[in-house]
Amino acid sequence: MSGATLDQGGAAADRKTEWRPERLIAPPPLFVWPPRPAGFLRWLFGWNGYLFPWNAIYVAIAAFTWLYLTPDFAGMTEFHAGWVLLLFERNVALLLLVAGAWHARLYMQKAQGIKYKYNPRWLSKNTQFLFNNQLYDNLFWTFISAVPVWTAYEAVTLWAQANQYIPSMSWHEHPVWCAVILLLIPLWRELHFYCIHRLIHWPPLYRTVHHLHHKNVNIGPWSGMAMHPVEHVLYMSAVLIHWIVPSNPLHVIFNLQHLAFAPSQGHTGFYKIVLKDGVEQETGNFMHYLHHRYFEVNYGGDGSIPIDKWFGTFHDGSDEAEARMNKRVLGRNTKA
Ligand SMILES: [Zn+2]
Ligand SMILES: [Zn+2]
Repeated sequence: MSGATLDQGGAAADRKTEWRPERLIAPPPLFVWPPRPAGFLRWLFGWNGYLFPWNAIYVAIAAFTWLYLTPDFAGMTEFHAGWVLLLFERNVALLLLVAGAWHARLYMQKAQGIKYKYNPRWLSKNTQFLFNNQLYDNLFWTFISAVPVWTAYEAVTLWAQANQYIPSMSWHEHPVWCAVILLLIPLWRELHFYCIHRLIHWPPLYRTVHHLHHKNVNIGPWSGMAMHPVEHVLYMSAVLIHWIVPSNPLHVIFNLQHLAFAPSQGHTGFYKIVLKDGVEQETGNFMHYLHHRYFEVNYGGDGSIPIDKWFGTFHDGSDEAEARMNKRVLGRNTKA
């Protein structure tokens, strides 16, 4: 988005009252030279790394969904309202469970108050949102647009796989390749998200499409999927990779669920969740919070591929990054 003033929106936190983690955001030791194998393995297998806990949890949910909550795959060679509707209903139910759990714990129960909450305010009730209510607005876009688009991509891709119209790969014949592709999906999503996100910050698309998501300056779990239908179509198109790369239904389900579930975690608005006294877990995503706060930094999702760094739009949470951003954005505005 061009020409934005920093600190837009009435809900933007005052820099002084906002909570920020002491640790700056650091890209993982993945694209570094010289290589750092020990750091890489720690990032890959360590706690709060690539796999554990969150991506492992999403893989487990996807595996359970494929094994127990998906209609008979052989029957998907033909479209029937029955199985498509079943996919839709299970997607509604799963999203209610996942995003609903974050919302219930942090925003209804307010189980930890504003501890680790970036912005001390709660969700808004003002006229810029549908129904004058940020939560209802977010729920509306999630269930009216996000879940139908998600289900449509899922139904069409599974149908194409069942008919072998697109390349497929079975776990029995290629277990290692299947595992590798599964593990690469979150990285692929990061690359894809950066590209479509950059695209919808192009002013004409920002004004007509992406603006809807950015009304959420102060974010909550349901803000994650509160997007314009055009953004949903672009965002979920990450699943089309399985039309090219030989894949399995589990890859498709995992990719789409990751697209649908990770945003509720990424938009909790909290840096950590307190499970009980002394047991805390990082939820992320400070990087994306800063994107909502300042609009023109951190176009990537979780920063696992440091594209923002390569293109000079990375904000790691430091005062220096803030000064760099101000210089870049304000300098450009003066030129314009
Ligand atoms: Zn967002
Ligand atoms: Zn954006």
